[in-house]
Amino acid sequence: MTRAFDDDFKYRFATRTIHAGQRPDPTTGAIMPPIVQTSTYVQRGLGDNQGYEYARGKNPTREALERNVAALEDGKHGFAFSSGMGCTDSLMKLFKSGDHLVVGENVYGGTYRLMDKILVNFGLTFSYVDTRDPQRIADAVRPNTVALLLETPTNPLMRLTDLKAASAIARKHGLLMIVDNTFASPVLQRPLALGADIVFHSTTKYLNGHSDMIGGICVLNDDDLAARIQFIANSAGAVPGPMDSWLALRGTKTLALRVHQADANGRRIAEWLAKRVGEQRVFYPGLPSHPQHELAKRQMSGFGGMISVEMDTKERANTMLKRVRVFSLAESLGGVESLISHPASMTHASVEPARRAQLGVTEGLVRLSCGIEDVDDLLEDLDQAFAGL
Ligand SMILES: *Cc1c(COP(=O)(O)O)cnc(C)c1O
Repeated sequence: MTRAFDDDFKYRFATRTIHAGQRPDPTTGAIMPPIVQTSTYVQRGLGDNQGYEYARGKNPTREALERNVAALEDGKHGFAFSSGMGCTDSLMKLFKSGDHLVVGENVYGGTYRLMDKILVNFGLTFSYVDTRDPQRIADAVRPNTVALLLETPTNPLMRLTDLKAASAIARKHGLLMIVDNTFASPVLQRPLALGADIVFHSTTKYLNGHSDMIGGICVLNDDDLAARIQFIANSAGAVPGPMDSWLALRGTKTLALRVHQADANGRRIAEWLAKRVGEQRVFYPGLPSHPQHELAKRQMSGFGGMISVEMDTKERANTMLKRVRVFSLAESLGGVESLISHPASMTHASVEPARRAQLGVTEGLVRLSCGIEDVDDLLEDLDQAFAGL
């Protein structure tokens, strides 16, 4: 089980991003954690090893990443996975046939697909609710409900859930509260401090931040729950390789800098878009016109670089998407480079059209992941892309 080093918690966030979970290599003094590219470890004799037996169970590079992100989320235990979805799938193995989960209706498309197309075949049931109103969470709880899975802000409509209010409901009904913190990153939001039991990420996004690996990670405090997740991770084996763990760890060193810059760029671009197309067409929690702006200010320490904009028709969206030069048309988010995407045909293509419409993911909706380029280049790029629209 990978525990964060206790003394890492005495440092502030930006210091933790760089140092937490890592110590210079004792054999050489190398300041960077070595990429321990091995499948097995030689044992001295029966039952006599150096704490490592086989790399599905434990790898020092992976452990450095797990300790680092655990410290960033203010949690004790971290478990890294081969993807964000691999993490979610392994967490679902905490449950058993007959269990029911309450899930935010606006969760990541892949999370919904895993639940709706695969996990239902194993006897799990799910209720998808609009968690902007915490009362709807309480209303969806049944005698066999065991957990609550939330994402805030949501993709791509930037809807928020009040995590403190949700956790009060989870406590009252004895539910395990699990939060996908991929969009906000621990720079802007710490779900464990707001009452979550488990926080998880697609490290593919902000934590790595350089669009060069796929990974997932979860962080939690409870020792018994951590032992169960350790058992699942080793049994089911959705673990990351040492190279990808190392890339994610290299990424977290600049996490604070990158997310603050994406946040600054996001604010400028959201303001520009609101002027250009009208604030009712721009979805960004940092805009005073966002219906949950007050909650965003209370629960998050910034608003981030994710923005959605309603272009009214697919044709207009397509015209704009084809014109951008600095933004790139691609799925994913959270990298140093700015990306732009069309949720209805890309990230949400696996969601049935009727359900998409009900969620508000229209054919004209475009999502921006603002990177850390010079914001004036991003604004000029959008200005030419919006010409005549
Ligand atoms: C990308 C993403 C995931 C899935 O992560 P992968 O690393 O792509 O498997 C889960 N949740 C959110 C919010 C995401 O953006």
